[in-house]
Amino acid sequence: MADTGITIQDTTLRDGEQTAGVAFTREEKLAIACALVALGVPELEIGIPAMGGEEQEVIRALLALRLPARLVVWGRLHGDDIAAAARCGATCVHLSIPASDLQIERKLGRDRAFVLAAIDRQVRAARDRGFDVSVGAEDASRADADFLLRFADQAQASGARRLRYADTLGVLDPFTTHAAIARLRRSVDLELEMHAHNDLGLATANTLAAVLAGARHVSTAVNGLGERAGNAALEEVVMALRHLHGIDTGVDTRRLPDLSRLVAAASGRPVAANKSVVGEGVFTHESGIHVDGLLKHAPNYQSFDPAEVGRGHRLVLGKHSGAHAVRAAYQRELGITLTKNQAERLLARVRAHAQLAKRPPEAEELRRFHAELHHTELRHAAAPGIAEVQP
Ligand code: MN
Repeated sequence: MADTGITIQDTTLRDGEQTAGVAFTREEKLAIACALVALGVPELEIGIPAMGGEEQEVIRALLALRLPARLVVWGRLHGDDIAAAARCGATCVHLSIPASDLQIERKLGRDRAFVLAAIDRQVRAARDRGFDVSVGAEDASRADADFLLRFADQAQASGARRLRYADTLGVLDPFTTHAAIARLRRSVDLELEMHAHNDLGLATANTLAAVLAGARHVSTAVNGLGERAGNAALEEVVMALRHLHGIDTGVDTRRLPDLSRLVAAASGRPVAANKSVVGEGVFTHESGIHVDGLLKHAPNYQSFDPAEVGRGHRLVLGKHSGAHAVRAAYQRELGITLTKNQAERLLARVRAHAQLAKRPPEAEELRRFHAELHHTELRHAAAPGIAEVQP
């Protein structure tokens, strides 16, 4: 696998499945894992062994595929969860424990000293079992900054390979993210992974900020699936790293829409039409000004070439179309050449349709509008003739 500098760890199968109401079948999990790896995603978080029975069976089945990727199981920083991970035959484990005083006191009912001691005890125990260990600093974004450094130091001293900085509640902005990750980067030699949530719509932005500050590992989920507002979306992070920072993650972006559809179907979470990169409508153009500019020279109105994600521009008629676009659409879709006057009259028809139907007219509807216009013209043309023969 080429070292691209930044490693994606996709958590669609763990945090993604934690989305309220989402539950993948065994077949769906296997299909999603295979699809992610086929696209070149190098690390997958595949499930939670401590959930027991069926989840453990699926984890075993995923490990048995021997996919060319690093498969990681998730657990609490707890002996029982490490034992469950071992029973699944996993070799890479992510162990999570709160880092914020709020969660340490009000969720665990413990104190900072307990957390540091637990890291030492459990990371060593996991290492003794042969595990490759990542430690998760849950709620790191609300943790005391000095304690977070001690947390990271302890993880490193006890033998962890990686520290995950979890913005569990999605409360960071890119500036605070950059400062927090830069501070950790200066203090420890661990691999740093950013795990961002999207409660304020900033998960992708915060993930990029973490990369700029020195995180070399990023956590993503397809379609931005995940707890509440979800995680940083795989498709957004991959495309933004490429276009804004010239970083190639090794992911085959042309197949992102197929992956998105697979996950949307399995999760029962349809993708919004305006969802970045994979939304149905993000390369569709209607307004006269944009269509005209696009037809003259695509980069006029293109942030990136849709062919990069295996897609193309789509021009549709609607309320904001001009007569020019109507003539072009009739020519393109139906091979009908309109006069300027016909195009003007059909434009009014198209606009009325758009307001009523809330969608662009389909080819069959365009044909009907044209036929109706044609009949009107015939009636007008015929009327004087009839008048002539009647007397
Ligand atoms: Mn999470």
